Amino acid sequence: MSKLGLRSRLLLSHLIVMIVGLSTLVMVGKLYSPRLFLLHLRQMEGRGINLSVVRYQLVEGFEYAWTQGAWWSVLIGGGTASGLSYLTARWIVRPLLQMERVTREFSTGNLQARLPESEIPELARLANSFNHMAVNLEGVEQRRRELIGDLTHELRTPLTVLQGYLEGLADGTIDPSSDIYQRLARETTRLKRLVDDMQELSKAEAGYLPINLQPIDLPPLLASMIAKFSDQILDNGPELRLDCPSDLPQALADPERVEQILVNLIGNGLRYTAEGSVTVSAWSEPSWIWIAIADTGLGISPEELPHIFERFWRSDRSRSRDSGGTGIGLAITSRLVELQGGEIQVESKLNQGSTFRFSLPLA
Ligand code: ADP
Repeated sequence: MSKLGLRSRLLLSHLIVMIVGLSTLVMVGKLYSPRLFLLHLRQMEGRGINLSVVRYQLVEGFEYAWTQGAWWSVLIGGGTASGLSYLTARWIVRPLLQMERVTREFSTGNLQARLPESEIPELARLANSFNHMAVNLEGVEQRRRELIGDLTHELRTPLTVLQGYLEGLADGTIDPSSDIYQRLARETTRLKRLVDDMQELSKAEAGYLPINLQPIDLPPLLASMIAKFSDQILDNGPELRLDCPSDLPQALADPERVEQILVNLIGNGLRYTAEGSVTVSAWSEPSWIWIAIADTGLGISPEELPHIFERFWRSDRSRSRDSGGTGIGLAITSRLVELQGGEIQVESKLNQGSTFRFSLPLA
């Protein structure tokens, strides 16, 4: 019984119901019909009709007719009900078999496989959730492929440079000098930064970064960040300013993640601004706090702006200046802002400067 398929089970249950129904009908009919018939005959006799001669034949005839009728009814009714029950069982089981086929196809790698609509509401809901899951998984798979593609592309350049120098050093075509070793060290640092950034990004994209939301006071946090960066600015570098009201309401955020966002945005502002200033400002709105980092640097062209938060994206100018960047910082930053429930925006004018601003919910 435990090995019986759903179709057989449905058919069997229909048949059992039908057999019980028909047997009850036949038994009750068999028991009551002759009695009722006799009663009817007696009533006729009571009205003065003499049936004593034909009484026996009448009863026998009735019983014969009743049995014949019952048999035919059982035969035709049973046959029709069995046929209908077979069709119903098939109608219910067919979409399930189709679902099984599609899920198997999906698991063997055809991520475009989707379940068709079903007329049965429960199955339609199941198909809907499966298709929803399939779209998500397809997205994850596509992002994974893109990530590997981007990563191998980004790793190739520093690895080729390293390989070239090391081979040259090995066969004596390049003279070992501190300059060469410094270049090798620079490329290795770049590789290490790339790997670190990648690890952070993959965690942020997969949503594995622990986010510890708590009410935080932003003014002291912003002031300490400004102090940290001011120490690193060269004499002829841009000026770093803070414009933040001291009575700013608390934000609901993770202080470590906010710091990470600020390091990325202030770091970029300073890196891409040769002279002028980088200003960090903060203000509150009814349910949000906004923090903006505005620089007077290189700026980003309108055609480059939509790509700015894509991972590994770097403008051609920042590539040619070899800023040492990996193009991952802003991808991580935007994910960190989203994970804390906020939003990030950018405005920029080429050669005039850029403003990145992000929001955090009020505590
Ligand atoms: P990177 O590590 O290369 O700085 P990001 O993701 O932080 O990576 O930035 C991606 C690219 O966006 C940078 O390479 C640069 O071209 C551009 N960019 C980011 N911030 C600024 C800015 N403040 N001014 C001008 N360009 C910027």
